[in-house]
Amino acid sequence: MGTLVCQNCNEAIEHFEGEKVTRLYATSCCNKCQASEEEPLSN
Ligand SMILES: [Zn+2]
Repeated sequence: MGTLVCQNCNEAIEHFEGEKVTRLYATSCCNKCQASEEEPLSN
């Protein structure tokens, strides 16, 4: 089984079928990181 991880926070986003245990970085961030990007912190 393979795991797709967020390149920003390293959280597992998705699992996919595979013969070997693999760990791939997603091309996009997880929902949590995307949400924080869309909501910029107001300083
Ligand atoms: Zn993330």
